[in-house]
Amino acid sequence: MNMSGSLTSQQAPCGRLVDAKRYQDQDEDVVITREVDYACGCRSIQHEYHDGCVSRKIVHHDGTVLVDELLSAE
Ligand SMILES: [Zn+2]
Repeated sequence: MNMSGSLTSQQAPCGRLVDAKRYQDQDEDVVITREVDYACGCRSIQHEYHDGCVSRKIVHHDGTVLVDELLSAE
């Protein structure tokens, strides 16, 4: 399964209002990937694992990693 869509006037992690593209993928190995690519170059990537863990990574368009975290399931 593969879904994608365009978004307009999204606030990117750097604070700009830009267009963005959203992707969603599901892998055989379990993982759901949700990714948002902002027009300025910022990116937001989230993976959801079968056990309920979620990892999240937000990258500024200059390459700085703003958020890189793993949230475990209760
Ligand atoms: Zn940006």
